[in-house]
Amino acid sequence: MLNLVIFGAPGSGKGTQSERLIDEYGLYHISTGEVLRKHISDGTELGKLADSYISKGQLIPDELMIEILADILENNPEAEKGIIFDGFPRTIAQAEALNKLLQKHGSEVTAVLGLEVDDDELIDRLVKRGKDSGRSDDNPETIKKRLDVYHSTTSPLREFYQKVGTYHPIKGTGSVEDIFEDIKSRVNSVKEK
Ligand code: AMP
Repeated sequence: MLNLVIFGAPGSGKGTQSERLIDEYGLYHISTGEVLRKHISDGTELGKLADSYISKGQLIPDELMIEILADILENNPEAEKGIIFDGFPRTIAQAEALNKLLQKHGSEVTAVLGLEVDDDELIDRLVKRGKDSGRSDDNPETIKKRLDVYHSTTSPLREFYQKVGTYHPIKGTGSVEDIFEDIKSRVNSVKEK
């Protein structure tokens, strides 16, 4: 079972590259940000709670986020074909929980594809996206907060996955197609193992 984590800062291109990975490998897509935004637009209790964090650029607490992910894995048999995790894990606690959840299904994280883009470029992309995304967190103040959270809390996952040999750095600038070619060659090399 091919389980990929697409990893990187906000604006690094995770969503764009996930779409291509789904088409290429027939994976089940789990974007925790999209799941939460759906709750917000449906006006659920969870959505109201999630919005109070998202609009401030903060992460949803681990315990809640892990519960949401476990629920998705339990209730979507299509995920058995392999998964692309987009926006999860974002903390060490989430990465450890993901290992345990996948182990329960006799599976594991096959590869972590880390899209590497510098902060100036990320800010530029996110400000541009904010002009038409309608997302409450794509404004300059929240963008800065999200990048701070990424550097302090999420980026240590690079080392976490480097240690177990599953981290693959990908240059996240250039054309979408060239970046995808690089990702594909990494995925194909781990698939053949
Ligand atoms: P994204 O669409 O992945 O950029 O996520 C948008 C926002 O949703 C993030 O800034 C967080 O507030 C929240 N979020 C998404 N995924 C997670 C996660 N794995 N852990 C905590 N918060 C998350």
